[in-house]
Amino acid sequence: MNLSSLNFFRTLRADNKQFAVIGLGRFGKAVCSTLHGLGYEVLGIDTDEKKVTQALNDRIAAHVLQLDSTEPSALQEAGILEFETVIVAIGNYLGESITTALNLKEGGVSNVIAKASSETHLKLLKKVGADHVVFPEREMGCSLARLLTKPSILERFDLDPDHSIVELLVPEKFDGKTISDLELRRRYGLNLLAVGRADNKFEINPQPSERLRKGEVMVVIGSNKDINRLPI
Ligand code: ATP
Repeated sequence: MNLSSLNFFRTLRADNKQFAVIGLGRFGKAVCSTLHGLGYEVLGIDTDEKKVTQALNDRIAAHVLQLDSTEPSALQEAGILEFETVIVAIGNYLGESITTALNLKEGGVSNVIAKASSETHLKLLKKVGADHVVFPEREMGCSLARLLTKPSILERFDLDPDHSIVELLVPEKFDGKTISDLELRRRYGLNLLAVGRADNKFEINPQPSERLRKGEVMVVIGSNKDINRLPI
């Protein structure tokens, strides 16, 4: 998650209870069934009759329709242009995905979220006006690589390409030291925002005299370069 993604999700109305999901592949089905399970009203769409029947049998959405989303008239007749947020979950059919996103934006849908499956796909979706593009394969690949190389970093929030907030396990070298002993600001250029104790409670802005223990969690903010200098 980064700041621009967060800004987009913040613009979505909290009281919007309806979503349409176009494309019932593995990704679209996961979006549908999760929203449905959370109590939202979901309309699932696919051109493929088998996918539609399967979705109905599996009850992953309140409503499921068979239509071709590259046809603007089909979208209009089915009322999809009236939705505030539509998810285009067509990863493997580039032309269909781009045309669908374009039709939705031209039809006046406020929030079009689309799945990309390549860098070119991502750029084209942005060009036709998609409001937010997700690229799950790339995102998962990046987070797996980060996890493999820095397993003690539990969570990362990218503020911009150079700065992050990270949640990490207290390094062995910091075990038993007080926060003032560590001199995180002077030695690493980092600010400590919170410490997570064994009871899963976080202490925000901990006192300099607090002692850190191995196995606890610390949350720091700073440049990626400085975060990488931590002894983890
Ligand atoms: P995977 O399932 O491999 O993870 P995915 O979730 O990106 O990938 P795709 O293989 O891209 O899914 O399939 C998306 C679905 O979109 C398919 O079920 C396909 O039938 C459907 N689809 C493709 N073109 C259209 C279209 N024009 N209108 C509606 N549905 C479409």
